[in-house]
This record gives sequence, C-alpha cells and structure tokens, in this order.
Amino acid sequence: MKTPFLDCDRCGKNISFGDAFVSINRFIEQAEFIAARNRVEYQPIDSIQIATLCARCANLFDVQALAKIIKSVPTEDPETTL
Ligand SMILES: [Zn+2]
Repeated sequence: MKTPFLDCDRCGKNISFGDAFVSINRFIEQAEFIAARNRVEYQPIDSIQIATLCARCANLFDVQALAKIIKSVPTEDPETTL
C-alpha cells in the first residue's frame, strides 16, 4: 500500500511515496564562478513551493506556454513588463 504525503494542487489526488510528481518553485540562488575549480557554483538563498502537481496534471501543461505566461505577467517594474 502506498503512503500519500502530498495532494495535487490541481486535482486534489493523493501523491504517494514512489509516485512521480512536479513541483513548481520560486528558487532564489546566487551563482559564482570559482576559478580554482574552473566551475560555477550555486548558493541557494531561499525556496518557496508554488504548486505541486501529480504527474497526470503536470503532463497536461505545455511547459513552453507556462514560460510565456511567466514572461508576460505584469510587474511593478516597468522595465520587466512586456
Ligand atoms: Zn493532479
């Protein structure tokens, strides 16, 4: 028997351990180039979970459409508003 630990924010279905699911997060991080290691390293600063979707609901979304929506949502900063 599967043990649910989350609910889908779209359909309300239980998401159990072992199930695939999608998290949409606002993840704030800072990147630095570390010359000694010749690579970029990322420092997490903060993360807020916006939505959790079961695999079925998540697969119904067009990822490119979601990206377009994010780019088109008006903000208070006129330089970032399209
Ligand atoms: Zn769902």
